[in-house]
Amino acid sequence: MKAFYAEEQKHHDPKAFLSSGAAQPNPEKPERVERLLAGVKSAGCAIERPRNHGLGPVSAVHTPEYLDFLEHVFERWQRIEGASAEVIPNIHPIARNGSYPASAVGQAGYHMADTACPISGETWQSALWSAWSAVEAAETVMAGAPAAYALCRPPGHHAFADVAGGFCFINNSAVAAQVLRKQAARVAILDVDLHHGNGTQGIFYARPDVLTVSLHADPVRFYPFFWGHADERGEGPGLGYNFNLPLPRKSADAAFLEALGVAFQRIRAFSPDALVVALGLDAFQGDPFGGLSVTTPGFSRIGEAIGKLGLPSVIVQEGGYLCDELGDNLTAFLTGFGGRMR
Ligand SMILES: [Zn+2]
Repeated sequence: MKAFYAEEQKHHDPKAFLSSGAAQPNPEKPERVERLLAGVKSAGCAIERPRNHGLGPVSAVHTPEYLDFLEHVFERWQRIEGASAEVIPNIHPIARNGSYPASAVGQAGYHMADTACPISGETWQSALWSAWSAVEAAETVMAGAPAAYALCRPPGHHAFADVAGGFCFINNSAVAAQVLRKQAARVAILDVDLHHGNGTQGIFYARPDVLTVSLHADPVRFYPFFWGHADERGEGPGLGYNFNLPLPRKSADAAFLEALGVAFQRIRAFSPDALVVALGLDAFQGDPFGGLSVTTPGFSRIGEAIGKLGLPSVIVQEGGYLCDELGDNLTAFLTGFGGRMR
C-alpha cells in the first residue's frame, strides 16, 4: 500500500513535558519518524509526499479561532517579557463556558489541555503537513486503493475541535474520516492506541455518521483520565455511536484481541463504508509508557484481524514512542494488515 509523509513533519521538536509534576524530556521526538519510516519500508510500502491541501480539510473538524491560535500564538508568545521558549499553558478554565481571553497566556490555557504539547516556531507547519498526509491517504482510498497509510507526526487523537493535548494539535484521524465522508455515508474510526482517543471522541460525540471505537488502558488510573470510560456512549443524535473498551493495565495480546473482537461486532452492526484505523503502537509491552503488554507478533495479529474486516481503510499513525521495536511493530501491523499488497 502507499504511505504518505512530508519532511516538514519532522521540524516540530518539543522540549518540555511535565510528568507527575516533574519536568522531563518530551517523548514525542522527531526521531520517531526515522523509526516509523524504517518500519514502513520494511513492510514494502512506497512512501510519497502529500500535496498541500490548504486549510479546508482541517477547518472541517477544528474551529477557526483554534486554528488561528495554533498558527499565530508562538509569534505572540515571543513578545511576552520573560516568557518560556515554547508556548506552554499555566492556567486553565475549570469550565469552558466563560469568556474567550484576548491574551496569549489566557488563550494557551483555553486551547491546551495539558503541558504535553508545547508550541514552537515549527509546530504549525509540522501539524499541517501531518494532517495533509492523512488527507492524501484518505483521497487515495477514495480513488479506489483498498488501504493507505499516513505517517502522521505530530499525532492527533487527543486534539479536540478547539483544544490541543497529549502531543496532539490537529486531529489527523478525524480529518481523514471527514474527508472520507465526502464519498462514504458512514465511517468508523477504530483507535487502538494505548491511550483513549478523547479528541476524536469529542469531535464526533453528537454525530451518528461517524462511529468512534477506542481500545485503551483503563483511564480510571491512566491518561487521559477524564474520558475513555465505558459509559461514554455519545449524545443527542450521536447516542450509541461512541464505544469505549477500557482494558486493565498490562493486558497482553489475548485480552487485546478479545476486545478487538467486541469492537468488530459494533463496527459490523454499524455497517460502515470506510474505516479509519488510529494506529498507536504504544500498547507495546516495551513502550516507555508501559500501559499495556502487546507484543510484536501481537501487532501482526491485530493488523491481520482489522484487515479481514475488508473495509476501505485509512491507517493513521498516532502514538508509539522510542524503543528498539517501534519500527518492527509498524512493519508487523502493516504486514499483518496486508502491507505487501500494492
Ligand atoms: Zn498514546
